[in-house]
Amino acid sequence: MEKFISSAEFLLSVKCDVLVVGASAAGLMAAISAASEGVSVILLDKNLDGLDHLANTLFEGMAARSKIQVEDCYLQKELEGMRIISPSGCGVTIPAKGYFIDRQKFDDRYKHIAENAGVTLLCGEAHSAKLDGNRRTVALDEDEIDARVVIDASGIGATIARQAGLLTMRHPEDIAWAMEAVFEHPGIGEELFFQYWIGSMAPGWKATFSPAGGDKATLGVFVRRHGPNVQPFFQRVLKYFKAYKAAEYNDIEHMKILSVKRGGDPICVLPGEMVSDSLLVTGGAAGQSGLAYGMRAGSICGTVAAEAVAANDVSRHFLSEYERRWRSEFYWEYRMGRSSLETLRELPDREIDRLCMGLSGKKILFGGSFLKKAVLSGARISLVRPWIIFDLMRNLAKG
Ligand SMILES: Cc1cc2nc3c(=O)[nH]c(=O)nc-3n(C[C@H](O)[C@H](O)[C@H](O)COP(=O)(O)OP(=O)(O)OC[C@H]3O[C@@H](n4cnc5c(N)ncnc54)[C@H](O)[C@@H]3O)c2cc1C
Repeated sequence: MEKFISSAEFLLSVKCDVLVVGASAAGLMAAISAASEGVSVILLDKNLDGLDHLANTLFEGMAARSKIQVEDCYLQKELEGMRIISPSGCGVTIPAKGYFIDRQKFDDRYKHIAENAGVTLLCGEAHSAKLDGNRRTVALDEDEIDARVVIDASGIGATIARQAGLLTMRHPEDIAWAMEAVFEHPGIGEELFFQYWIGSMAPGWKATFSPAGGDKATLGVFVRRHGPNVQPFFQRVLKYFKAYKAAEYNDIEHMKILSVKRGGDPICVLPGEMVSDSLLVTGGAAGQSGLAYGMRAGSICGTVAAEAVAANDVSRHFLSEYERRWRSEFYWEYRMGRSSLETLRELPDREIDRLCMGLSGKKILFGGSFLKKAVLSGARISLVRPWIIFDLMRNLAKG
């Protein structure tokens, strides 16, 4: 195996076994897993010194399924579950332990684990990864890195994979464009449930309220098929939210917005091509949405990359093992997720209201195996609005 030529001030040309592009959730795990197998790994990010990532909430069930132990060092607040709220305000409560994390501390923690595993962290922007025999040459602004396997974990832009001609998302038109604000108001962060509003207020996905502890919380909107500018939706949600909370909080009208972030969530685009010779794609870049699931995908990806280096076979054929392992764990969950969100997108507000009224007060399972959740939720829905099951099946068949 090749030994990485270590350098903090970068060089003109470097070699390594595995180069990971993107030091967010998926990329960090890919780098850690590959390095744990004993190969040399460089983890590259264009903003390494000022990582400012989007995702900051996850649920216990997802973390467990992704084999992640949530740690106190970055846990900001523990929540008891979520309330899904229909357009007319009917709520369905789902008990499911959730977490609001301090994303900066989370990234620092995983960067530390990566360094301890022997990963070299590097600041720089990758522009392309040209195939050169059985390796790839990654072009940075002025330098080059020569790697046996390149892992593209660069988020929805999927810079490297797109350059290499991969169509990493089956439904790129379905990226949910989002705007999320961190705001401050006395006591608002102490609530115990996430709140998700569905319906025409946030077409195709949801508006979210996430208590972050103390006086802090986030308010966001995620919209599909209305283009990347979701500011008008956000303004409407903000107005609605203030009215919704007015009875509980004095002067909520003057809540203070501290910062706003924008981006795209590939929540139901479905992964497309994620493997080529000497190249793997993981996390948001491959349409594997979500913090926890992206980390698990990254972990599988890093392990397979290291196995390929050890076997001296970085061909597409060998690396396809990543896709096979990922599919066996997650494929049907993503398919069901897409089908559910497509069905939701098609439902008029009055139908969503009736569904929520029918489900209100019923016990809804959020933990457990994917199959158990799917069967029990399906059974609940079929008792309330049976034809929605046909819509779900129709959308599932479309893929
Ligand atoms: C507003 C918003 C809120 C969200 N909240 C949540 C949430 O609470 N929970 C959840 O589970 N999911 C959430 N998501 C979805 C989640 O953000 C993504 O699914 C997940 O972050 C993807 O992680 P990733 O590691 O694949 O990539 P990203 O987090 O997108 O990171 C990509 C990294 O690659 C780097 N990079 C990009 N291009 C290059 C390049 N050419 N060279 C070098 N480096 C490069 C970037 O600097 C960045 O660090 C949210 C999405 C949005 C838009």
